[in-house]
Amino acid sequence: MNRLLVTALLTLCLLFCVNAGAQTPAKTAPARRAKAAPSVFRPAATTHPKLVVMIVVDQMRADYVDKFRGQWTAGLKRLVDQGAWFREAAYPYAATETCVGHATISTGALPTASGIVANAWWDRDTQKMTTCTADPNAKNTGYAGTITKGGDSAWRLRVPTFTDELRLQSGSATRVVTFSLKARTAIMLGGHKADAATWFDHNGWVTSNAYGTMPFIEAYAKAHPVKEDYGKTWTLSLAATAYMYDEKALGAVAPSGWELSFPHPLRGKGTGGEADEEFYGQWDTSPFADTYLTKLAEEAVDQLGLGKSGGIDYLGVSYSSPDYIGHAFGPRSWEIQDTYIKLDKDLGELFAHLDAKVGAGNYVVALSADHGVVPTPEDMQQTGADAGVLHLPDIQQKIEDTLKTFNYTAPAVARIASSDLYFSTGTYDKLKTDPVAMKAVLDAIRSVPGVADVYRAEELADRPATRSLVRAAESNSFFPGRSGDLLIVAKPYWLAVSAPSGKARDYGTGHGTPYYYDQHVPLIFMGWGIQNGEYFGNVTPADIAPTFAYFCGITLSIRDGRILSEAIAKNRAPAKAAAAQ
Ligand SMILES: [Zn+2]
Repeated sequence: MNRLLVTALLTLCLLFCVNAGAQTPAKTAPARRAKAAPSVFRPAATTHPKLVVMIVVDQMRADYVDKFRGQWTAGLKRLVDQGAWFREAAYPYAATETCVGHATISTGALPTASGIVANAWWDRDTQKMTTCTADPNAKNTGYAGTITKGGDSAWRLRVPTFTDELRLQSGSATRVVTFSLKARTAIMLGGHKADAATWFDHNGWVTSNAYGTMPFIEAYAKAHPVKEDYGKTWTLSLAATAYMYDEKALGAVAPSGWELSFPHPLRGKGTGGEADEEFYGQWDTSPFADTYLTKLAEEAVDQLGLGKSGGIDYLGVSYSSPDYIGHAFGPRSWEIQDTYIKLDKDLGELFAHLDAKVGAGNYVVALSADHGVVPTPEDMQQTGADAGVLHLPDIQQKIEDTLKTFNYTAPAVARIASSDLYFSTGTYDKLKTDPVAMKAVLDAIRSVPGVADVYRAEELADRPATRSLVRAAESNSFFPGRSGDLLIVAKPYWLAVSAPSGKARDYGTGHGTPYYYDQHVPLIFMGWGIQNGEYFGNVTPADIAPTFAYFCGITLSIRDGRILSEAIAKNRAPAKAAAAQ
C-alpha cells in the first residue's frame, strides 16, 4: 500500500473510525497520620485477579465469530470455547469509530459523558480539525531513534478510565501498559497516566511525555526493527478451499504494490530493495503487525513482571491491522479471514505465555472491538439491496448553492467531518432564526443520493426520549461543542466518502453509522471470575469497565454500562476459577 493510500485510510479512520488534569490520579497514597500503615490497597490474590487484559480488535464484527470460528484452533477458539461469549453486544450510538469505541471500552461511559465523539472533529475555537488525542501541551517521543512530531495524550477525554481509577484506588502497585499501531487506541485504553502507552507512527514506535518511556521498549525496538519484515510475503494459512467467498473481493481497493489476490509481498515499491514508506504501509495492512504487537505485549509481561506486583496490573492491546485490511478488502474477503486465522494463533501464543508467567486462572481477559464494518457497496448491490456511495462534498455544494439564494456569506460550511456538519462561525445561529432558509438547507441535504435523514444539534442534546433507534443512537454520541451543528445519517449500506461524485474512492469500505453492522461487536470474557457460556442479553462494550471494576473492587465515577453479573462465576475461589478455565 502506498503512503497515499495509507494516508487515505488513516484519514478515513479519523473521519469514521476540558483538560482532564483535575482528574489525574495520584501515584502515591494520600496523606496519612504519622506511624499509620501505608494506606495502599493490596488486594489478596484470592479476591482479585492479578492481571486484567483488554484486547481490542479494530473493526472485528460480531458475526466473524460465527462465520469464521471453524478456521480457528488457538486463542480465538479458546475464548469462544472457554469464555463468557456475549452474542448480542452492540454500541448504542451512531459514532462507530475507533477513538469513540476505545473510550467507551476503557471508561464505561458513552460519548455523551466521555466527550469523545469521533476520531477527529472540527474545533470551533481554533477553526481547525483536531484529533481526539492531539494535545498542544504534550510532546511525542520516538523509540530507537524514531522521528516524531506533535503531542498526544488523553486530555480531551472528560472522564477517568478504568485504569486511571485502578491506579488511584489500588495504589502504586498497579502498572498500566498498552500497545497498538494507533495513538488513539493505545492512549484511550491506557488513560491519562498509563505507565506506558506505545503506538506505531509511520516507521517506528512512539509514546508521549504524558506517559514517559520504558527502557525495555527501547531495547526491544532496537533489537527487532520492523524493517526486518521487509521482503516477507503474506500468504494464505490454509488451503484455498478453506476460505469462504470469492478469491477477489468485489469492490476492494488493493494497497499499492499488491494485487487483489494472494500472495501479498511486503516489498514496498519493490525497487530499492529496502524498507521504504510503502513497505511500512503494507506492514500496517498485514498480519505481521499483529504478530509484532503480540510479541511486544509478551515482552512487557516478562520485563515488568506483570501480574506479579502484588496488586492488579493492566495490559491493553489493540490490534489495528484488521481495520486497515478491512478498509481495503472489505468483510467478505480472503484477506479478512486469513487475518483472523493468524490472529487466532497470535492470541493462542499470548494466552499460553500468560498461563506460564501469570498463571491460568490468575488473569481475566476481555476481547471486543471498537466498531464493525459495512460490506462494499458493490457487494451489496449484487443482492439487489439499495446500496451506494454517499459523496459528502456534494452535500456541501448543495448547501452553498442553497444559501447563496438567501444571501448568506460563502463559504457557509466550515467542514463536514464524517457525519458531523459544521457551519462557519455565526451561520448556524443565523439559520436558527431563519426557518425558511433552515428548511431549504435540510431539504437540500436530504436530496443528495444516499442521505436517509439529518438531525439538528438541538434535537439530539440531553438524550431526548424517542422511539426512533437512529435518533437515540445519534443522541448517545452527541456532545455539545464538539459534535456538528447538523448530523447527517446515511442510508443503510450507503458508504459515505470524502471524494466528490465522479471521483473514485481510494478504499473499499468503512464504518461510522448507527446501523447494526457497525454497532454489533464481539464481547468475550475469559479467566478469573468468569462463568463459561453463551449469553444472549443485549449488552454493550460500556459494560466492560464496570465489570472489571467489580472484579478489582473499585468504583467508577460515571458509567453507562453495568456489571455483567450473569457471566460472573458464583464461587470465585482461585481453585474454582482455575478449574473454570
Ligand atoms: Zn476504520
